[in-house]
Amino acid sequence: MDIKEKILMGRYELGRLLGQGAFAKVYYARNLTTGQSVAIKVIDKEKVLRIGLMNQIKREISVMKRVRHPNILQLYEVMATKTKIYYALEYAKGGELFDKVANEKLQEHIARKYFQQLINAVDFCHSRGVYHRDLKPENLLLDEDENLKVSDFGLSALADSKHQDGLLHTTCGTPAYVAPEVITRRGYDGDKADIWSCGVILYVLLAGYLPFHDTNLVEMYRKMGKAEFKFPSWFQPEARKLVLRMLDPNPVNRITIPKIKANSWFKKGKLSKEPSLNKASGSGATDVAENQDLTKPPNMNAFDIITLSPGFDLTTLFEEPRQKTEARFTIWRHASVIITKLEEVGKRLGMKVGKREAGLLKLEAMKEGKKGILSINAEIFELTPYVHLVEMKKCNGDTLEYQKVLNEGLRPGLQDIIWNSQDGEQEQQVRLEQQHQQQQQVLIPRKC
Ligand code: AMP
Repeated sequence: MDIKEKILMGRYELGRLLGQGAFAKVYYARNLTTGQSVAIKVIDKEKVLRIGLMNQIKREISVMKRVRHPNILQLYEVMATKTKIYYALEYAKGGELFDKVANEKLQEHIARKYFQQLINAVDFCHSRGVYHRDLKPENLLLDEDENLKVSDFGLSALADSKHQDGLLHTTCGTPAYVAPEVITRRGYDGDKADIWSCGVILYVLLAGYLPFHDTNLVEMYRKMGKAEFKFPSWFQPEARKLVLRMLDPNPVNRITIPKIKANSWFKKGKLSKEPSLNKASGSGATDVAENQDLTKPPNMNAFDIITLSPGFDLTTLFEEPRQKTEARFTIWRHASVIITKLEEVGKRLGMKVGKREAGLLKLEAMKEGKKGILSINAEIFELTPYVHLVEMKKCNGDTLEYQKVLNEGLRPGLQDIIWNSQDGEQEQQVRLEQQHQQQQQVLIPRKC
């Protein structure tokens, strides 16, 4: 599939081919308005549909939209024609980290920098309920300043995909990097599995070759299950200890991300900066830091607005079954007023109200319901400083109990600030309702 047209959607001028995956070609491109370099990933819709991978594509889009972080490749926008899907992605000029380690090991301080950035990105994904499941140097790209960018979320899982046992069950990933419990198919924790892959990556960065390698796959899995591997002589004792803790075949005993971050080898030298909210990365990415002003919800970015606006109807691409566990309201008030109101209403309903992060509140029932404690996330998105979209989503508990609280408690409690047709703006309300319907189809659920 060749790109004959040099201009895409009147917005991007396409250049050379950067790379090619199984279902996509990636081209260098320039945004005609801003001059910004981007990478355009061209996916053949028919091929993807034929192989039944459309869900994977949808998931990748949802996930990349959810995780915006300086060390995660940013998805700027998605365009679609009848036959193709185009991702406009952050351009990673430095190519794959794999090329750097294909022939030799890295110096320790360089390996540490990439590893710190990897852990920061993975930690951020996990905090958003996203497990990558295919971490390997081929999926780690570098920008022009040699900053690491995690890419390829095609195999990622959302926390929502957990089975009733709370574990993920799909076996995926790349054999040499995949955790032993993923192979045994008895269910696994996505975060622990990602930590194993990061352990293999750290080993590869410092050794220049894989810890587990055998032409016989069964033999390789056996070695992985027993963590049977050797360190080369140049591997420093502290780094050895950390790798051993990450490559613990028992996921229960495997080191956690907070402990990796507290590890003396990890912390040595100049710590690769943790992302901060207001500091955009080279690409203009923002992320949510812990000390963020809780009254300030995240803005909807151009991508959100484009995908939500009726003029750019991508619903056939994103369409998901309507979830009864979500509701959205438009509110014409400052975010601080909305937060105060939500706290007030929540308390009146006998719920515990906690602030999680930028514009995200968690409402929790005090008593256990039919299916555990009812827990609702109320997330506020800024459309303009005085117009907000509030998304309510059930994160835990019984759906009927949730709907009761929503319809008999939260909705009436917010009635005086929700924008509705009684304000004499019937027509606009209808338009908003339509917009909400579209939002319902494209906004992605967030983990509690
Ligand atoms: P993928 O189909 O995502 O695996 O991409 C195929 C290849 O294209 C990758 O291995 C990279 O070499 C290249 N590539 C993908 N995305 C980008 C990007 N955002 N910037 C630069 N090169 C990329």
